[in-house]
Amino acid sequence: MENKTKKKGLVSTCIILVIALVMATVTGISFSKKRNFVEDIVVGSNVTGTFKLDEYNENLKGTVGDVDVYVLKGEEAGGSVLILGGTHANEPAGHMAAILILEQFQVSKGTVYVIPNICQSGLTHNDPLEGTPQYLHFTTKNGEMRTFHFGSRASDPIDQWPDPDTYLHTSGNWTSDKIKEGVKTTQTLSGSEVRNQNRCYPGIADGTVTERVSYAVTNMINTLKIDMVIDLHESSPEYAVNNAIVAHQDALSMAADTKLELDGIDISIRVEPSPAGLRGLTHRELGDYTDAYALLCEVGNPSQGRFRGYTDGTLAISGKDPCYAAAYAINDGKLLYVDYSSGDFPLALRVARHVATCAQLILSMNFEIDDAAREVIVDNFEDADMIDEFYNDLVEADDLGLWLN
Ligand SMILES: [Zn+2]
Repeated sequence: MENKTKKKGLVSTCIILVIALVMATVTGISFSKKRNFVEDIVVGSNVTGTFKLDEYNENLKGTVGDVDVYVLKGEEAGGSVLILGGTHANEPAGHMAAILILEQFQVSKGTVYVIPNICQSGLTHNDPLEGTPQYLHFTTKNGEMRTFHFGSRASDPIDQWPDPDTYLHTSGNWTSDKIKEGVKTTQTLSGSEVRNQNRCYPGIADGTVTERVSYAVTNMINTLKIDMVIDLHESSPEYAVNNAIVAHQDALSMAADTKLELDGIDISIRVEPSPAGLRGLTHRELGDYTDAYALLCEVGNPSQGRFRGYTDGTLAISGKDPCYAAAYAINDGKLLYVDYSSGDFPLALRVARHVATCAQLILSMNFEIDDAAREVIVDNFEDADMIDEFYNDLVEADDLGLWLN
């Protein structure tokens, strides 16, 4: 009798072990595939060069953070703009808008630098327990399938571990005479924020990989004397800072000009001033520690918010979610900060907003600086009419793949 029970116990132990091994193998393969998946960014003749970010922080060499910087340099010398995508890898419009810009902008004067995957580590994994998709797929006009990461808000713990109990953000060795006396340059945050790319600026040269990336960006802007930096994000529809430009105080008037111009072509956008004491973010630190005009753009992402229902690639691309539609129906839409009256908020619309905002910010920068030597001209986004046409075409087609190479 005892032997029989023992045998039974051994059999169930073996079955559980086999199931555990199968699960570990399946998830291990999936994890490894995502970790090593390289996005097929298709570079056209508009891209005049690329370089590695380690040019501005040698401590990035051999790390996941040593990403490519794409250079779109016009024939005529002028000013320069840096566009950051993928800061938060679970905000696909920021990542995809940067890719669309690097594939489509025809720069004839000045230089546009694009880093579409500034937090590459975040792109290579997903947030635990969120059930989000790993990839997004698009079909181009040639019928080819292109695949991109949908990732996590934060860097992968594989790249920096463990998180501290609390993260003390500091500005490292950076100094700035722009910061008023009495304004704190440090901030205590929850431990996991140590892996949040947008809490690690201006960065530390030999810090965590996330801090090293931020350091390289700050150093690159200072070394190349970049005139404007735009960081592209998304936010939950229930988050108050939405469909907005967050601007450092030096960049407020050009953000306001962009708002007025976009209002003129029926793209409604808000302007939010960057709070002086909110440390670690691009719109604060890159404005304080460089001479660039620092701005961050937000657009509402239904696949990110807490009200969302089943979350897959279809939701991320279509933005159609019955749970958000139900939330919008309560209290005349006042629960949300995006217009969800149509029952969706598609990725094509979100990307169109970001690209239009970047194009208009460049026009507003030219207007504000009013110096031909520092102008940036993008031939196919040269005026409000071109921006309007691009925006309406993409929103109407509702198919981002058609705008990818
Ligand atoms: Zn974000």
